[in-house]
Amino acid sequence: MSIFVTDIDDVLIDFVGSLSTFAEREYNISSSYSNHFSSDASLVWEVSDDRCTEIIDKYFSSKDFLSILPRVDALESIYTLKGMGSELYTLTSRHDEIRQQTNQWLSKYFPRIFTGNYFSSNIHTPRASGKTKAEVLEEIGANFFAEDVIEYALDASYVVDYVYMFIHPWNRNLGSLPGNIIEVNNWYQVIDHQRSIF
Ligand SMILES: [Mg+2]
Repeated sequence: MSIFVTDIDDVLIDFVGSLSTFAEREYNISSSYSNHFSSDASLVWEVSDDRCTEIIDKYFSSKDFLSILPRVDALESIYTLKGMGSELYTLTSRHDEIRQQTNQWLSKYFPRIFTGNYFSSNIHTPRASGKTKAEVLEEIGANFFAEDVIEYALDASYVVDYVYMFIHPWNRNLGSLPGNIIEVNNWYQVIDHQRSIF
């Protein structure tokens, strides 16, 4: 049985799209998924780090965040992977203070699908405690990992068989990557690759 681990934000859900809608509606910040050229929202919105943190914290307590729906391709494909015999886990670097909501959200939208939900440290903030993503993956003995942040994907490429790198406006043109990092636009391409190797 293979062990498949997935990130949550911008892999299972369209986090940046939802955050952009919220920022535009609540703060009049002109923002959209397609103009997020960086994973650092303060650069995209042209606001200070403190202001950016304030807006994102408000978003975390909003209905937009708490009731966000999974991506349709993710929902379908996670069930497909389960059916193919994978043992599934989530792994996210979300802040400590939203971990409980994260577990509740996962059990609501993916009931009894994941064997465990792991939380890691976050390269951008000390507000997420724990081991690095690569350390967690190694500990679980993960074979596959789905991620959208290149730093995590590169670290993970040393400890898993394949990393599925979800391409977004903030991580395009990555140049030459290790051979076991597969760039994908959606979950259907993940399933195609899985079928090609089993
Ligand atoms: Mg992510």
